[in-house]
Amino acid sequence: MRVVITGGAGFIGAHLCEALLDRGTEVVCVDNLVTGSRNNIAHLLTDSAFSYLKQDVSLPFDVTGQVDAVAHLASPASPVDYHRIPLETLAVGSRGTEHALQLAKRNGARFLLASTSEVYGDPLEHPQQESYPGNVDPVGPRSVYDEAKRFAEALSAAYRRSADVNTGIVRIFNTYGPRMRDTDGRVVSNFITQALDGRPLTIYGDGSQTRSLCHVGDLVRGLLDMLSSPEPGPVNLGNPEEITINSLAETVRELTGSNSEVEYRELPVGDPVRRRPVIDRARHVLGWSPTTPLEEGLRNTIEWFRTPLSAELVLPTT
Ligand code: NAD
Ligand code: UDP
Repeated sequence: MRVVITGGAGFIGAHLCEALLDRGTEVVCVDNLVTGSRNNIAHLLTDSAFSYLKQDVSLPFDVTGQVDAVAHLASPASPVDYHRIPLETLAVGSRGTEHALQLAKRNGARFLLASTSEVYGDPLEHPQQESYPGNVDPVGPRSVYDEAKRFAEALSAAYRRSADVNTGIVRIFNTYGPRMRDTDGRVVSNFITQALDGRPLTIYGDGSQTRSLCHVGDLVRGLLDMLSSPEPGPVNLGNPEEITINSLAETVRELTGSNSEVEYRELPVGDPVRRRPVIDRARHVLGWSPTTPLEEGLRNTIEWFRTPLSAELVLPTT
């Protein structure tokens, strides 16, 4: 097996590279490092089963040699990132997805699209199942990401229907764990770094909004299951344990033993109020469900933020 991972030097991508190499699969990581980091893959560069191609996938590209699967993860994912580079976000969701699909088509390879719960927008149906078409403002501040992913899903579905590519779509819900960037602005990395530094934890809005947080080890196991399945999806991958942002702040304060205060800030426009996946389809078609309780996953992540280079990454992917 030889798998191409676009976005393989990012947070989730680097874990997927590792998990595939552990299973004896060859990996080609294609990434332009716009939000990823060479540090995430530095330890893999000496592995002869691993290769790295520095490439913007929004431009045409090819990978020589056998390709059995293409996992398309390349895209900024944090709101801070996609607000900073909106045009690049739309480009990688549209042209980048098309180039990755064409690579899969040329090789008769399985294609996996890393889509997102953001396709549901600010959902009017709760919890969210795959049949819910979503509530996205096409010109709202988050639309560059949401609509890029919705287009990427449409393109993948069209390549399955009319170009005979074995595509599979997963909709990933909020994921956290070791290798999150401390500056990516997401809630888990913000709260942990703030708590460890003794700075106030910044809660946007009144903190009553919810998210459902999945440990990256569980998520990667789901990606592996989907890669080796013929399932077209879309399939929700996430942890249905829902938590308010207020109680997440409290949990992080407790687990870090921090005395940090909390500080309330303005809620970003378009910030979804509630989010929780229905994962019946993942259970049924992939036999997948998350197993890492939030506290255990947060402890693992806090440990990593304390000693990012030396901490053992506890990844329950087997
Ligand atoms: P990340 O920003 O850490 O990783 C994305 C990677 O893609 C980075 O290494 C970046 O350099 C690379 N990339 C971006 N544009 C590129 C381009 N044009 N060409 C080549 N490489 C490019 O983000 P992540 O959290 O690891 O997310 C990975 C994927 O999972 C993304 O597609 C994201 O939309 C999806 N996802 C993530 C979450 C989450 O909670 N982390 C939730 C839903 C969906
Ligand atoms: N959030 C917060 N404080 C922060 C960062 C985020 O209260 O320092 C909130 C944010 O407004 C949102 C939730 O936490 O309601 C999750 O934000 P994140 O950026 O992690 O993911 P997304 O909004 O994409 O789900």
